[in-house]
Amino acid sequence: MSLTLTGIGVTTGIALGKVHRLTPGELALPEYHLEAGAVDAEVERIRRAVKRGDEFLSGVLERVGQSGGETARELLEAHRLIMQDPLLMESACDRVREHRINAEWALAQQGESLQEEFRRLDDEYLALRREDLEQVVNLIQRELAEQPSALFSTQVPHRLDDTILVAGELTPADLTVLSQRRVAGLVTEHGGPWSHTAILARSLEIPMVVGVHHALELLTEGESVVLDGHYGAVLVNPDDNLRRHYSEKQASSRRHRSEMQRFLSLPSRTADDKSFSLFGNAELPIEFERCMQAGVSGIGLMRTEYLFLDGRLPDEETQYRAYSNALRAMGGRPVTIRTLDAGGDKLPDELALTRGPNPALGLRGLRLSLSVTDLFRDQLRAILRASTEGPVRILLPMLTTVEEIVQARQLIAECRESLRSEGLNIDPELPVGGMIETPAAALDVHNMATELDFLSIGTNDLIQYVLAIDRQDELVSYLYDPAHPGLVELLARCVEAGRERNLEVVVCGELAGDERTARMLLGLGVSRFSMPPTQVAAVKKSLVEASADRCRRIVTQFQSRGGRSGTDLLEQLRDEGGAR
Ligand code: PEP
Ligand code: MG
Repeated sequence: MSLTLTGIGVTTGIALGKVHRLTPGELALPEYHLEAGAVDAEVERIRRAVKRGDEFLSGVLERVGQSGGETARELLEAHRLIMQDPLLMESACDRVREHRINAEWALAQQGESLQEEFRRLDDEYLALRREDLEQVVNLIQRELAEQPSALFSTQVPHRLDDTILVAGELTPADLTVLSQRRVAGLVTEHGGPWSHTAILARSLEIPMVVGVHHALELLTEGESVVLDGHYGAVLVNPDDNLRRHYSEKQASSRRHRSEMQRFLSLPSRTADDKSFSLFGNAELPIEFERCMQAGVSGIGLMRTEYLFLDGRLPDEETQYRAYSNALRAMGGRPVTIRTLDAGGDKLPDELALTRGPNPALGLRGLRLSLSVTDLFRDQLRAILRASTEGPVRILLPMLTTVEEIVQARQLIAECRESLRSEGLNIDPELPVGGMIETPAAALDVHNMATELDFLSIGTNDLIQYVLAIDRQDELVSYLYDPAHPGLVELLARCVEAGRERNLEVVVCGELAGDERTARMLLGLGVSRFSMPPTQVAAVKKSLVEASADRCRRIVTQFQSRGGRSGTDLLEQLRDEGGAR
């Protein structure tokens, strides 16, 4: 029987394959009985896993340091105490001895029995601790399995070429694993099209449909599906005709993409001879390669969260190597390195301890870096050291106040001085830019600009905050309007602040990588666009064929008329913004 499930397409691609269901966040926990002689070794396994877990937590504590804030430190300490508590560890060891069962099984049983006790006591404090207990048990289980991410579990086959993976939710870290395993397509029950995971899927060209409610229930392991990213559809058990139709569509879209490549070699000038520059957004090594192939002028946004997503905080040396590699890959073209923008949908687990009730409005981006300054210093030192090997610009995410920029610049100066005393000569003029992605920053952009060397507009977050729609929530994605008059006004304000202070303005959110909205930005006076490498050809075509003057007139008219829907504007720019 054929059935079609619908969700929201985040990449336009098509994928054909067989369903593999991934139960969210679960490790495949083995359960087996032991030979009498194997009991001691199994008890030792628990002790070693607990020791490694404790080292991990104390490493995080050390990094969080005094500046980490009371709550984060208290939580970490609480987790260490729970981990060492005889009620958990010793009792789990007893279960191994008494029932001759393996470590994972014993630990799961003991965790469950403590949870049950907590539940029975009906105590508010213990109810809060239940979640901590669960996190600690999970951490030990991962140490036992030597698997920092759920996706390393045995549930996921090593090669996924013909597999459409179906999951509740996926994190950006999961996606990096899946892309290495060459997954054909992805379906998730939750998640919005502008989440970090979705952006990464687009950049890696993995067809993906999000927000397919009850997908895990409705799809059966091994069944055939076609995933149509354009329409956000998942066609179950397609017949031969349908399958042939989609295979042809897939081939023709590949042909179309390769035809578009010819635009890459054209000069970056609009039809009425205004120049523009295209930059790449990259975080994974493969994306730098693709950026070079697309002929970008440099990296406009190097997200660094990737380095923090494998369950460990990277030290200065690891980061230095990653930044140097990026510079090397870009062969002398400038690389704009954004400092850690953990938070919202991109928080590494250990920093999740600083997660508040509403992560998108919480301690994220520069706010987090300024509150965990040891971590921030490591990153700044690594960036500054790499800057001796090629042109680097530092980009500060999630600004709300001018004071934050002042504090960050102060730390940058301190790190530069300490490196100078170690014999490294760091350029004192190294540009420091700020991301304009909160309404406060956009409204106060004229003041922000006085402390910055360039402005970078993060439209993904700006839209989320201006329209009050969670990037991750598929239920409100219908409100997403990339040309909402309120947003257009704020974008115009940023461009004007840049012009007034003679600062470069780059747009690095997804609006820059969409051929329709790129024309709107052109009309607003933007000439620097930064996007995933996969989007460069289409955006270049749109801009090369555009008349900057005509786009400007259309946008100005839209602003002066006021209050209309953005859809008309984008259609008008498509139909009338080109050269005649
Ligand atoms: C943005 O918010 O537009 C942006 C580029 O940053 P990110 O998507 O990483 O939040
Ligand atoms: Mg952002």
